[in-house]
Amino acid sequence: MTQRQRMLEELKTKSIFNIAQKHAFKYLDELYEMDVFPSPENLSSLSNFKHPLSQSGTPATEVIEFLQQHGSQATTIHTGGRYYGFVNGSTIPVSLGVKWLTDVWDQNGGLYLTSPINAQIEDVCESWLIDILGLPETTKAGFVSGTSMANLCGMAAARQHLLQNLGWDVNQKGLNGAPRIRIVAHEQVHSCIKKTLALLGFGIENVEWVPSDDQGRIHVDEMPLLDASCLVLLQAGNVNTGAFDDFETVCNLADEAGAWVHIDGAFGLWAEACSSLKYLTKGLSKASSWAVDGHKTLNTPYDSGVILCKHPEALVRALQATGAYIEYTDQREPMLYTPEMSKRSRAMEMWAILKYLGKDGVDEMITGFNTLAIEMAEGLKNIGFDILNEVVFNQVLFKAESDEETNRILKYVQNSGKAWMGPSKWNGDAVIRISVCSWMTSSEDVKRTIAVFREALSKM
Ligand SMILES: *Cc1c(COP(=O)(O)O)cnc(C)c1O
Repeated sequence: MTQRQRMLEELKTKSIFNIAQKHAFKYLDELYEMDVFPSPENLSSLSNFKHPLSQSGTPATEVIEFLQQHGSQATTIHTGGRYYGFVNGSTIPVSLGVKWLTDVWDQNGGLYLTSPINAQIEDVCESWLIDILGLPETTKAGFVSGTSMANLCGMAAARQHLLQNLGWDVNQKGLNGAPRIRIVAHEQVHSCIKKTLALLGFGIENVEWVPSDDQGRIHVDEMPLLDASCLVLLQAGNVNTGAFDDFETVCNLADEAGAWVHIDGAFGLWAEACSSLKYLTKGLSKASSWAVDGHKTLNTPYDSGVILCKHPEALVRALQATGAYIEYTDQREPMLYTPEMSKRSRAMEMWAILKYLGKDGVDEMITGFNTLAIEMAEGLKNIGFDILNEVVFNQVLFKAESDEETNRILKYVQNSGKAWMGPSKWNGDAVIRISVCSWMTSSEDVKRTIAVFREALSKM
């Protein structure tokens, strides 16, 4: 059989997909009781992958069986109830189902001509996002890989827009000799904002940093005077405390000055969709651009972020590509709003979750994260931990009596396999950081997590 015949056979019999499905279903059935982080023994299976590339290849079934045998035990259980590390959501079944189906469709989402259905879904998803997040009607959405990329797009659009207003075409002339852009940023911006400041040529040293208050919100009283050369960087959801900046006050100042406000709302922007939490995002719609993830609090599979921009012409100018072979139609052209050309039809999964949950379902899920985070904080406080933040959203920051004890307790819990969360630093102290952002997490999970901490304390 030739290679092509073999592949045709595999496509026809579906045997490969059946094997993958069998293993995937087994994993789904077992994941709730699996170690949340793999044990050293399970991690040791990873060494099996280190072999030289073979000359003659491997049968397809063996490739899948190999991955299953040596790889599945070395996964972290995001779609379980007790993974609280970083800010990592899990996956809602309907979005995973849509991903499987659309993976088979294998759409290149770059252009209308490469996938009309993807262009349609992006259009619909964009209008739903404008609705649920209360954004201006002129807002355009670019569907990117995550908030790092969305921040990059928003800040590139800002650079384009501000320099254009100052009479400088940055695409043609570059940054050498350009009028100066002033970057005014909250001192606790996410690390990917700093990366973007470096990538876009602004330079981290040139930032006018504005101090944070004790909750990690920008100190509005310490904002410098803004003007029409300013890009102001705020956040909806401080990565440690979950706190929200005062958008209303800062956006009003920026509006008067003609400055651009970009909000990094990777996980927090969704507070706007919750009736009891939207007080946190007051004034949000007055900004110029927003970055948000699907793969965190909305629980889409990974590879889902969105740049939302009120000045589509600036976004398009910053990202547009032209070429003799690129044919734009009068339909939506997804790649006008993203740095990539070829891309997965990733908006499908976000569309699926929004269609499935509706406004009430999104509100219920995300408000639920807040309720459970508050339960977690209360439980941890009751067994003696020092809770360091007001739990306004889904983040809980806490510590034991000393850095050493905090670190030892965290290691104990991480090694238990029963829950996983990471460390951070707050006011110079070693702290533990819990992020509640899986639809699977229940009060029972919170109780089980607190029980592991109680056990850890008793071993100290
Ligand atoms: C996670 C996060 C990012 C980065 O988003 P990715 O989707 O991981 O690229 C940026 N800002 C904040 C506040 C985040 O929590």
